[in-house]
Amino acid sequence: MHSNSLSVHSVVRLQHSQPDQSTLPPSSSRLENASSKTLLDIGTRRIFNDDHDLFRQNVRRFFQEEVVPHHSKWEKDGQVSREVWEKAESKGCWDYVYYADIMWEEQMYSNCTGPGFSLHSDIVMPYISKYGSREQVERFIPTMTAGKCITAIAMTEPGAGSDLQGVRTNARRDGSDWILNVFISNGWMADLVVVVVVTNREAKSPAHGISLFLVEDGTKGFHKGRKLEKIGLKAQVHSVFRGCAPPADALLGQVNKGFFYLMNELPQERLAIAGMALAGAEFMFEETRNYVMQRKAFGKTIAHLQTVQHKLAELKTDICVGRAFVDSCLQLHAEKRLDAAMASMAKYWASDLQNKVATQCVQLHGGWGYMWEYPIAKAFVDARVQPIYGGTNEIMKELIARSIVSTK
Ligand SMILES: Cc1cc2nc3c(=O)[nH]c(=O)nc-3n(C[C@H](O)[C@H](O)[C@H](O)COP(=O)(O)OP(=O)(O)OC[C@H]3O[C@@H](n4cnc5c(N)ncnc54)[C@H](O)[C@@H]3O)c2cc1C
Repeated sequence: MHSNSLSVHSVVRLQHSQPDQSTLPPSSSRLENASSKTLLDIGTRRIFNDDHDLFRQNVRRFFQEEVVPHHSKWEKDGQVSREVWEKAESKGCWDYVYYADIMWEEQMYSNCTGPGFSLHSDIVMPYISKYGSREQVERFIPTMTAGKCITAIAMTEPGAGSDLQGVRTNARRDGSDWILNVFISNGWMADLVVVVVVTNREAKSPAHGISLFLVEDGTKGFHKGRKLEKIGLKAQVHSVFRGCAPPADALLGQVNKGFFYLMNELPQERLAIAGMALAGAEFMFEETRNYVMQRKAFGKTIAHLQTVQHKLAELKTDICVGRAFVDSCLQLHAEKRLDAAMASMAKYWASDLQNKVATQCVQLHGGWGYMWEYPIAKAFVDARVQPIYGGTNEIMKELIARSIVSTK
C-alpha cells in the first residue's frame, strides 16, 4: 500500500464492514471553528473526535503530496491520472458520514477539484452496495474500493435535467433502444456507469417506469462521447454517453424502482455538495485573509482598511453560521434522521454562500483575483456549478416549499 494511501474509498469498506454508523457524543472541549485560529484548523468542531483528526491529517497530507503538485497538469489535460485513484486506496474502517465529510472538506481545502472521489464513493457506491445483487456487489465493490474501477452516474439527458421524470433513455428491447446522456462527471474516465433508463412507458406515472442499470465500459453499442469544455472544474472530466440499452442482467435493483432509489440517495448527494460548498467558502476566506494581510496599498496592508475588515467580519460570520447548520445536518445524517427538505436547504444555502464568498474574495484580491495563477480565481469558477448540479437551487426550493405547504 502506498504510504499516503487513505480512505477515499474507505467509506465503501465501512458500508460493508460497519453498517451501524456510530454517532459521536458532543465534545465540549473542542473549539468551534469560529473560535479557532483559522477555519481550516485540525482538532476543531464538536462533531469530530481525535480519530477523525488523525484521519484528517492523513487526508491533508495525501492531497498536498499526491494531488496538489499534479493538478495544474491535470487541468491542462482535462482529466486526472488513473494512478491518483489507486493511491487513494482505503486503509481503514470508519463510520461513514464523518470520514466521508473529511474527504470532501480536505479536497476543497486543497483547492483541487479534479479527482471525482466523492461522486464515486459517496454517490455511486451506495447505489451498488444497497441495491446491487450479491454478484454485482462482489464483482464491482472491491475494484471500486481499490480505485481500479472508476464510476459515474448518468441521469441527465440533453432534454431532461431538472425534470428527472422526463428522461427518455429507453430499454424497450425491441431493437430501438438507446441511451443519450450529457454532463456526466467522471464520464470519460468511467469504467462503470449507473444509467437511468425508462423501462415502462405505460406506468401510472413516469416515476413508476424508471429503472437503473449498471453499464460497463466496453459494453457492446455503448460509446463515450467527447469530453466537454467547461468554464471550471478544469481537471474533472465530463462527457456525453450514447448507445443502445444495457442487457437485462445489468439491471440494478428491481425493475421500475429506479426513481425511488434516486429519491432515497439524492439527499446524501445534496449534503455532500453542501459540505463541499462550506469547505470551499472556508478555504477562500483563509486564502483571502492571508492575501489582504500582505497586500499593500497607500502605505499599509489593505487589512488595515476598515471596509476590508468589515467585509472579512461579514464573510466569517456567514460561513460560521452556515457551518453550524451543515454540521448539524451531518450529525442528523449520521443518525439517519436527516430529511430530504433539510438536505435541500443545506445544498441550496451553502452553495449560494460559496458563490457569494467567491465573488467577494475575488474582489478583495483586486486584479490578481482574476488571474488563473491565483488560487482564488480557480475556486471562484469551480464554485459556480454548485448551485446547478445535484438538482438546481431552484429545484431545491421547490422541494423545500413542498414540505412546507404539504398537508400530508
Ligand atoms: C459540471 C456538471 C457536472 C454534472 N454531473 C452530472 C452527473 O454526473 N450526472 C448527471 O446525471 N448529471 C450531471 N450534471 C447535470 C446537472 O445535474 C443538470 O445540469 C442540472 O440538474 C440541471 O439540469 P439542466 O442542465 O437540464 O437544466 P434545466 O432543467 O433545463 O434548467 C434550466 C433552468 O431552469 C430552471 N428550472 C427548471 N425547472 C424548474 C422548476 N420546476 N422551477 C423553477 N426553475 C426551474 C433551473 O433551475 C435552471 O435555472 C452535471 C452538470 C454539470 C454542469
